Formats: sequence, structure tokens, C-alpha cells
Amino acid sequence: MTTARLSYRLAGTDSADVLVVGAGLAGLNTATLIARQGHDVLLVERRTSLAGAIRTTGIFVRKTLDDFPLPPDCLGPPIRRVVLYPPDLRRPVSLTSPRDEYRVGDMAPLYEASAATAADAGVRIALGTRYAGRQGNIFHLAGRDGPTTVRARFVVGADGARSSVARDLALDRNHHLIVGAEEVFALPGSDQPPTFHCVLDPSLAPGYLAWVVNDGQHAHVGVAGYADRYPDGLRRAMERFRASAPGLTGVERPETVERRAGPIPVGGLLRRISCADGLLVGDAAGAVSPLTAGGLDPCLRQSQLAAEVLNDALRTGKPDTMTHYDGAALRPHFRGRLMLRRALAHVRTPTAAAAAFALLRTPFGRAAASRVLFGDRSFPDPTPK
Ligand SMILES: Cc1cc2nc3c(=O)[nH]c(=O)nc-3n(C[C@H](O)[C@H](O)[C@H](O)COP(=O)(O)OP(=O)(O)OC[C@H]3O[C@@H](n4cnc5c(N)ncnc54)[C@H](O)[C@@H]3O)c2cc1C
Repeated sequence: MTTARLSYRLAGTDSADVLVVGAGLAGLNTATLIARQGHDVLLVERRTSLAGAIRTTGIFVRKTLDDFPLPPDCLGPPIRRVVLYPPDLRRPVSLTSPRDEYRVGDMAPLYEASAATAADAGVRIALGTRYAGRQGNIFHLAGRDGPTTVRARFVVGADGARSSVARDLALDRNHHLIVGAEEVFALPGSDQPPTFHCVLDPSLAPGYLAWVVNDGQHAHVGVAGYADRYPDGLRRAMERFRASAPGLTGVERPETVERRAGPIPVGGLLRRISCADGLLVGDAAGAVSPLTAGGLDPCLRQSQLAAEVLNDALRTGKPDTMTHYDGAALRPHFRGRLMLRRALAHVRTPTAAAAAFALLRTPFGRAAASRVLFGDRSFPDPTPK
């Protein structure tokens, strides 16, 4: 991918049918799909490189891999094995699926490949360009060459969990968030089967998980939980976990590692995610599984509906078309996952986690865990009315 294709230079007052804010997976995919319908799309991203400041482990689940053509050379080896550990790491529960369940994306080249696809579809991509506010359909941007404005019929907020576009369109915003941090490093090779290790310990990961994903090519070591429940901060919890993390026996951690971190919305899809002037996708719309905290599958599925609705709105000019992009209609699909999230949030001490773990060791517990980890569920496939 040449930088030139990502360096659209804004000057004075520009215009577009649709301004997409944020070049994560949600923004890149939505921009591509709208441009393929023949519309003029400008995508702005505040980062100067898509390979930097990555905020995801990049685990793609089987259903996503089956349904979306991700570039195979940007995906790690398939993972079938998950091991769940109690706080003392003793007597873990090991589950192996007969199918390939996960693959970890090599996210820097994967984002760059998605940007190349967007550019091929005709999307103008301006990196190093921050969305700074709006007045009606005039949008203010701050870029490498100073402030500029863009007149756009619609704006798409793909600007992550703390979306400024959501605020400016007076749409719903994420309030229920956990925070995650991880280290990533390359491995010289391994004779162990690729494995996803999950540690349930509220002192390391209050309300969620600590993890090691070792697929034989890369190790990802991370923790995630409610920010206000880390007694000595997320970073310290990460360091403590790293010191005793399972799944890394015999693995030498290099001096330099890539660090990733970010907020994860786990309150379920937001209700009001569109209005006459635009809509939200991905984390900005709360499109993340409240239970697994997976947001990559939702990014890809929700972009499809977003692009269909915007295409209709641009072609028909009818103001009520945007109401078909309705979070309230899809939210009931998250009810079960929201209940389980609340249950997980109540496990507050290592003793409570160890007690809950006893259930996981029963045949019922193993079957329930396998359903969550190896199930066929995805973000609800949104079909326009
Ligand atoms: C540590 C961690 C690990 C995770 N691991 C997984 C996983 O393994 N599997 C999974 O399915 N999900 C995972 N998730 C969740 C998943 O990564 C997200 O749900 C998904 O990446 C969200 O994509 P997005 O495009 O909506 O947002 P983002 O990828 O956050 O993209 C938003 C973009 O908007 C840009 N932006 C923000 N504000 C502005 C502005 N004002 N102007 C211009 N640009 C702006 C940002 O720079 C960013 O590039 C993880 C999350 C975290 C934090």
C-alpha cells in the first residue's frame, strides 16, 4: 500500500456525499461499501499510520472467517484449544473444538489491506486528520496542513468507543466500558498446539479476563476489566499477570514488545444510533458482545446495514430512510449476553471466582463454556425493513 493512496490532502472547503470518521475496521469497511454503490466518500483518521496505535488483539471467530473474505496472509494459524484457569492457575479446564475456532489477525497489514480495498473502491483517505466538530452539514477537520472544512450530506461516526460524532449528532453514547491492555511479540516457533489461555481472576482482570493467546507465531498477553476496580492500575495488573502468565513456558519475551490498549464498550448495542444527518458503526454504536467483548465481527456485519441504509437515503432523498438503522430493534438480541455480563461483573474476589470455577468443572459448566466459546452466534445479522 503506497502512502500516497492514504494521503488525500484536504484544502479549503471540500465536499463529499459521506464523511466517515475513523479508519478502524468499522470505518474502513463502511466507507468501502458506500463507495462501491457509486457515492463520493471521504474517510478521515487522526492516526498518521494505520499500523500504529492498534487497539485490538485481533481474534476473529469462525463465523466471521466463514462469512467474510479476510486476506489469508494476514491471519495466524487456526486455534481449536481453549484453557480456562481459576485464580490459583491450578486444575484448569481444557476445551478442544473439532473445528478451527479462531485466528488472530496480523492487524497492521490487515488494516492496510482494508485501506487498499477502500482506495480501490474510490474512497479518499486522509490520515493524520482529526474530526473536530460540526455546524449543520459542515464538518470541521484538523489536518497536517491546518484546519479545513468539509460539506457532506451524511457523517458516519466510526470513531470508537468514546465517539465525538455520537456526541455532536446527539445520539446515544457508551457509558458501560471496560478497559484492556496487552503486549504482543513474535515467537520463534512452538511445538505446542495453538491455544487461547483465559484466566478468571478479579484481582488481575476485574469483571473480565486475563489472557494469553499463543498461536505459535505470536504471543498476546493481556488483561481487561472495569477501570475503577484496578487497585494499582491497569498497567501494574498487566505486569503482575505477565510474571505468572500460563501458556508461555520456555518462551523468551523480547526486550521490545508492541503494546496495545483501549476501552471496550460492553453495555450492548446503543438504541439511538442514527438521525437525519448520520449514523454510528462499530464501537461508536456499542456494537460489541457484552459477554466476550468481541467487536470485530459486529464491525463487519453492521457496516453492511449502515451502507445499505445510506445508499437508500442518498438515492431516494427521503428523510425517514435513516430510521431503518435502529439500535433499539436489534438490542433485544443482546439480552442473554447482557445478563451474563452482569453475572460476570458480580464476581469480585478471587475466592468468588474459584467458587464459580467449580461449576465450570462440571459437565454442565463445560457444555455452557463450549457453547459460548465455540458457538455459532455472531452479531445479529441486520436486515433492513
Ligand atoms: C485490548 C483490546 C483487545 C481486543 N481484542 C479483541 C479481539 O481479539 N476480538 C474482537 O472481536 N474484538 C476485540 N476487541 C474489540 C475490538 O477490537 C473493537 O470492538 C473493534 O476493533 C472496534 O473497531 P472500530 O472500527 O469500531 O473502532 P476502532 O478500531 O477503535 O477505530 C476507531 C478509529 O477512529 C479514530 N478516531 C477516533 N476519534 C477520531 C477523530 N476525532 N477524528 C478522526 N479519527 C478518529 C481512531 O484513531 C481509530 O482509528 C478488543 C479491544 C481491546 C481494547
